[in-house]
Amino acid sequence: MLFKVKRLGQEGIFVAMTEDKVIFLKPKKEVSILRRHPWVFSGAIRTMEGSIQSGDLVAVHANKGRRLGFGHYSPGASIAVRMLTFVDEVIDQAWWNTKIGSAVRMRRELGLLGEDSNSICRLIHAEGDGLSGLIVDYYGGVVVVQTHSVGMRKSLEMIKIALDYALGKNLFGIYNKSAKILRKLGVESEDGWIHGAAPEPWVPHEYGAKFEIDILLGQKTGFFVDQRENRYLLGKHSKGKKVLNVFSYTGGFSITALLGGASKVDSLDSSSRALELAHSNAEINGFDDSVHGCIEADAMEYLKSGVADYDIVVLDPPAFAKSVSARHKAVQGYKRINARAMESMKPGSLLFTFSCSQAVDDRLFTHTIISAAIQAQREVQILHRLHQPPDHPVSAFHPEGSYLKGLVIRLN
Ligand code: SAH
Repeated sequence: MLFKVKRLGQEGIFVAMTEDKVIFLKPKKEVSILRRHPWVFSGAIRTMEGSIQSGDLVAVHANKGRRLGFGHYSPGASIAVRMLTFVDEVIDQAWWNTKIGSAVRMRRELGLLGEDSNSICRLIHAEGDGLSGLIVDYYGGVVVVQTHSVGMRKSLEMIKIALDYALGKNLFGIYNKSAKILRKLGVESEDGWIHGAAPEPWVPHEYGAKFEIDILLGQKTGFFVDQRENRYLLGKHSKGKKVLNVFSYTGGFSITALLGGASKVDSLDSSSRALELAHSNAEINGFDDSVHGCIEADAMEYLKSGVADYDIVVLDPPAFAKSVSARHKAVQGYKRINARAMESMKPGSLLFTFSCSQAVDDRLFTHTIISAAIQAQREVQILHRLHQPPDHPVSAFHPEGSYLKGLVIRLN
């Protein structure tokens, strides 16, 4: 049995790289890995050598024996190995420091770590940052980690050290919010602070808008970080306008519209808890009930009653298609809700409409919105095509990472 053992990191963690945990692929199944796509599907595996456990770091070899790289093994999952590297290197603390350091440097260069007008961003976007299975969001010095694989769960200590090392004075606390995701993979784990805690006062901000973030009970890591640039664009269109923010969650689009000079904004969501936070976010930004209203309702039901009162409508629903097999139904859902909004919108009004379903790509989404306009018998112009921001990068080798798309259309 071959071992490379290294002493690593400031806290003296020992990491053993065993080269006896090897997965051999079936003939020709190495093609996508040679193109640096990071997923090995279970059906591509020919044999496994060594006592490989869930979450282990394994060497992946082509059928004829050529080593292709190393990744985390997940038994029972359709993605059986999530590749971490395609070259011969040791995945040790120094590796994590380099990888996470590079991701953090990019966000710092984008002005997203609080020195400039933004202190909310995604620090690590899984495959987009070469770390399949890891999501890390940053909220004004508080970091929320989500491990989506057992391998990442087992690497948590090294991830924590690397984040601390990379963020330095920009870090107050790290919260691990992975229990719900890991339970689905059959692993019990608890959410909680794994380093420090939130500072007092704690006011993360986005283009000058202050936000209360409920990292413990909120959806995802607490906030929909990916809409920052699209919210900013809404702000620029909002002066003197009446805005309806459908699927508002905690009021992200509502607050930017208000700061952009909207005369009135209504936040609509089916979750009363989300609306409580939307209300409080409006308050901490200086807007009272005379300019910000909360509507607890089902979006489709509400849209049926007509939205002719509004100059701008935002539609940012949750992902309708969680998989390719659900795509057709999802497209019907997007068409129905967009057509319903368009039917009663007044001439000259704007619709900011989005899809965060990875399975519905740009072209299909545009076609769906055009079909909705035809169904609603409205003339529409496309003013902007929108995407996810650069702190949600897409690896050129993993186009599946592109998921958020939006259109701003004008109804005539
Ligand atoms: N635009 C938000 C994020 C939206 S997330 C932002 O920028 O932060 C999707 C939201 O849709 C969630 O808050 C969820 O509670 C809400 N939702 C889901 N189904 C709904 C329905 N049928 N009617 C109204 N809201 C719904």
